Amino acid sequence: MNEWTRRLMNRHADKIAVGVLGATGSVGQKFIQLLQNHPYFEVTEVAASPRSAGRPYGQVVQWTLPGNIPKEAARLKLKECQPDLQCAFLFSGLDASVAGTIETDFARAGYTVVSNAKNHRFDADVPLMIPEVNADHLQLMHQQSYGTGKIITNPNCSTIGMVLALKPLMDAFGLQQVNAVTMQAISGAGFSGLAAASITDNVIPYIKGEEEKLETEPLKILGQLNGGKIDEASINISARCNRVPVIDGHLESIQVALQNKPQKKDLIECWTTFAGEPQRLKLPSAPLQPLYYFAEPHYPQPRLHRDIEQGMAVAIGGLRTCNLFDFKFNVLSHNTVRGAAGGAILCAELMKAKGYLQ
Ligand code: NAP
Repeated sequence: MNEWTRRLMNRHADKIAVGVLGATGSVGQKFIQLLQNHPYFEVTEVAASPRSAGRPYGQVVQWTLPGNIPKEAARLKLKECQPDLQCAFLFSGLDASVAGTIETDFARAGYTVVSNAKNHRFDADVPLMIPEVNADHLQLMHQQSYGTGKIITNPNCSTIGMVLALKPLMDAFGLQQVNAVTMQAISGAGFSGLAAASITDNVIPYIKGEEEKLETEPLKILGQLNGGKIDEASINISARCNRVPVIDGHLESIQVALQNKPQKKDLIECWTTFAGEPQRLKLPSAPLQPLYYFAEPHYPQPRLHRDIEQGMAVAIGGLRTCNLFDFKFNVLSHNTVRGAAGGAILCAELMKAKGYLQ
């Protein structure tokens, strides 16, 4: 813990001072919203590109979320992403074009960064975290050579919903093959990612790099920690990704081939009883129940189900036997909450509970 964190902790009782990199973007704004009145963390620094830096956050950010900009954050001066911020812990919502170098620079300077960008996800010593699924992977941080600084990553937003639904099936029945077709929300493309004219009355059947992420990230997350490295899971995954005119919430149609041959009711039982470390530790952002199953054949739907448990739970439905694989079902998760800022905050809460933020 650096001197600034110690001083700020004194000022704000026992809260940990944190900064948000990329605070003006889609994910950055969600961080600012979710960290308001957080029991462990207090936002003391906000940073973005040199274009935005130098003025109060409230005057620069084009706020897109319901409700006002949190007052305390609105007053903070936006800074550039240079490692002279007065906190030791950072949440990053940086664009991938700059995240790699900036996050490395911060880690080398002694900061701990929880990132939403793709750049460090496959570094051998960087955990790719879904706290309910692979809490033990945090130990990978011990392999890092940044000194006191660390980098921890959040997976891609579609990966998170899918893997949360797959993990209990893998544990109970063995997972052999997965086919996924996503219908992804506009907010997943970032604040200025899509022109209205391109997505209104339309579906865009391609998202650059997304299929590769969905096909590779689950293998690391569902892998086994073995002597300070991850042995990736052996599962065949094929993915197709589409952008659809929905504001928030990624819907995914998934087919699975399982090693054992369970009944439908066995899958539902696995999902509805699933819990992980965040639930056992009663972490502040942990949903009481991570997975909800809906028997109605037309559920889940983005507008109706993306906000279950403040957007931290995943909704599943439409379970049927499949003529090609064993089963097919639909999965819905909130891309900027569970799939980004909320997931990263849950990871930071897990790190605190496990003693990584001493
Ligand atoms: P975004 O809305 O485009 O925001 C990008 C942020 O990066 C902005 O704050 C921007 O600041 C900052 N930035 C851009 N260039 C910079 C530079 N040269 N130096 C410093 N900061 C710079 O993107 P987003 O959707 O929030 O996504 C952020 C990251 O999270 C991406 O890596 C994305 O892949 C990942 N992610 C997004 C989602 C989602 O649902 N949106 C989900 C999971 C993961 P300015 O405003 O000053 O330009």
